[in-house]
Amino acid sequence: MNETQATREADLAIHARWIVPVDPPGVLEHHALVVDRGRIVALVPSSGVAASWSPRETITLHSHLLMPGLVNAHAHSAMALMRGVADDLPLRTWLEKHIWPREAVHVSPEFVRDGTLVACAEMLAGGITCCNDMYFYPDAAARAYEETGLRAMLGMPVLDFPTAYAPDADGYLREGLAARDRHKHSPRLSFSLAPHAPYTVGDGSFAKVVTYARQLDLPIQTHLQETRSERDDALASTGATPLARLDRLGATGPAFIAIHAVHPGPGDAAILARQGCHVVHCPGSNMKLASGAAPVDAYLAAGINVALGTDSAASNNRLDLFAEMRLASLLAKVTSGDAAALPAATALRMATLNGAKALGLDGRIGSLAPGKDADVVAVDLSAVELAPCYDPVSHLVHAAGREHVTDVWIQGERLFAQRALTRLDAAAIAARAALWRDRIA
Ligand SMILES: [Zn+2]
Repeated sequence: MNETQATREADLAIHARWIVPVDPPGVLEHHALVVDRGRIVALVPSSGVAASWSPRETITLHSHLLMPGLVNAHAHSAMALMRGVADDLPLRTWLEKHIWPREAVHVSPEFVRDGTLVACAEMLAGGITCCNDMYFYPDAAARAYEETGLRAMLGMPVLDFPTAYAPDADGYLREGLAARDRHKHSPRLSFSLAPHAPYTVGDGSFAKVVTYARQLDLPIQTHLQETRSERDDALASTGATPLARLDRLGATGPAFIAIHAVHPGPGDAAILARQGCHVVHCPGSNMKLASGAAPVDAYLAAGINVALGTDSAASNNRLDLFAEMRLASLLAKVTSGDAAALPAATALRMATLNGAKALGLDGRIGSLAPGKDADVVAVDLSAVELAPCYDPVSHLVHAAGREHVTDVWIQGERLFAQRALTRLDAAAIAARAALWRDRIA
């Protein structure tokens, strides 16, 4: 080596026992990530860093694994304030008798801000660096995300019935687009159109959503065929599945995100595959509401991109992608009768790169590679309940949990450091949530 060769300056080098880049698959041992101005600039053996780089800060994690930040591809973050408010109910009863009546009384910009802060604090500490959110008052949510530093795609909600937020579909669109106009240049935020579901949004409103999506180049996300009755009622009354209806309306395509898709009808998987749509699998919520189990194996085999989401803390009741990875893997094995279904590496890819792809962000996040943003999670695998470690990827899905996350960076900013939030006051956020509980209970 030429000893006079100049080294390049960089903000940070993180040395770790293991690095799981996700793409390409596999595990690197004794490597380092070099980060500069929020981006990964190198992923090299630890022994090779000094020859090429002069990092201003060096962090050495002897017993840790580095992986890409987890992408929660479906949540209603503000509903964290209704965590556990109504358990053990099927979807329609839960929504119509418990959630919607409480939302009618309590939801406001203040509710959304406080609830989103609770969700962000929980998600950050659990290694989630990006959230696909869908809720009322996206302007208040955007401000909360900006305060926390979390990356988010905010859905502009659309419903055909009035709420305190908007009187009708046109009103929802107006409010959502105004929020987007205020925050569209925010570096960690992006926006999508979020018609709630085919059973709450009619053809006329869906057609308007499609028009805006095409004009503004925005993704469309919607809850789809979460329950068997949603599919069967539509088939009985119209002869078409809700997905076939949305396909006819022009909503499908590579920027269409189908949330849940638990109960595809005949031809639905073919539509999703042909149009390049994305599916967000939410196993915890689907199990808790007894909605069913999405045929994830069949979707993946058909080449459909499947991401993972928590749904809201009102139906989960945790915003924990470690839990969802494990549930997704176990549920696929149970429903297929095949122990080889959905292995750990697939679950991890769904929780990272597939989520990024669903949000149109896979050029920036979802894997650890030079050129991508430094959204990075450190997991300490030294705890006795994780000993010994034969396969770190298996451990991430089947043995470790979010409690083993020690550090989280987003765009190179360390937002969780040695298990402490650096921007947020977790105790103050929890105290405000307790005040909401007293109002809502
Ligand atoms: Zn949902």
